[in-house]
Amino acid sequence: MADLRFDGKVVIVTGAGAGLGRTYALLFASRGAKVVVNDLGGGRHGDGSSSKAADDVVEEIRRNGGTAVADYNSVIDGEKLIKTALDNFGRVDILINNAGILRDKSLVKLTDQDWDLVHQVHLKGSFKTTQAAFPIMKKQNFGRIIMTSSNSGLYGNFGQANYSAAKMALIGLAKTVGIEGARNNVYCNVIVPTAASRLTEDILPPEVFNELKPEFIAPVVAYLCHDSCQENGSVVESAGGWAGKVTLVRSNGALLRSSIQDGVTVEKVAQNWDRITDMDKAGTFGAIQEVTGALIENLEGLKTSD
Ligand code: NAD
Repeated sequence: MADLRFDGKVVIVTGAGAGLGRTYALLFASRGAKVVVNDLGGGRHGDGSSSKAADDVVEEIRRNGGTAVADYNSVIDGEKLIKTALDNFGRVDILINNAGILRDKSLVKLTDQDWDLVHQVHLKGSFKTTQAAFPIMKKQNFGRIIMTSSNSGLYGNFGQANYSAAKMALIGLAKTVGIEGARNNVYCNVIVPTAASRLTEDILPPEVFNELKPEFIAPVVAYLCHDSCQENGSVVESAGGWAGKVTLVRSNGALLRSSIQDGVTVEKVAQNWDRITDMDKAGTFGAIQEVTGALIENLEGLKTSD
């Protein structure tokens, strides 16, 4: 297979001064893209700021013969990042929403600030950058956008109510962006990474930590952003050199009314609970229209059973 390259493409990677974002930036640059290395350079909990994180990665890319500029804005000012790409390279093709912080506390100890800061960086930041890049991508009939979710969002995790809520919200955002962009070849997918970084150094056991290089995930993200990749609105988990698609499943369920005149009682719910929760014949839906279609089918079935 020929190398999959990104020559002529302009890529913005948020939070690219460290961890996963840094490896994404290095990979895109090594494959011919011009990269905006965005990083606020703050602490793990969203405190402080510094230009060093982004500058170091830009320096590394340039040393390797690539093209990159630094951007020190917070993703909360998303439009400024897009302006950096336009001012320096005249276009924006690929946006990797990766910047992130943690403010872990159990539910009752979370302050409004813990909640708001995490939501601002992860969710509002991704919204702001995407909203600013979107019309440009649509106009040029090409765009690839990545949102970064987490297994904490998909499954929950003790002490991460703020983070898991924001990370799950990003999946809804990505799916809608993918739907709104599809006609103009602007696709949006979600990466669910697990990698060794400062965010996970005290969470993952040391023997696992060493096996989870961000470099194993970067190629998955890069492929999702290539012209040749037609994936859209999907959630892809990746870690340690493995990748797999994640999707929601719904049970076949149970009809709780036997005719159109019939009501639903608490007892009928109780009597049917095993069928409602039986995942043996669970299925997936590709679009909201399919869910509505299944609902209408159920209602039609009730009418004919009259
Ligand atoms: P990291 O801390 O190494 O990198 C995150 C970077 O984002 C930092 O360099 C930080 O300065 C930057 N950043 C923070 N707030 C910013 C802001 N407002 N504007 C711009 N930059 C900002 O962490 P990482 O592990 O590489 O995480 C990258 C992304 O992956 C995050 O969204 C994280 O939630 C997600 N994630 C990581 C893992 C993992 O296992 N490492 C698992 C699930 C999800």
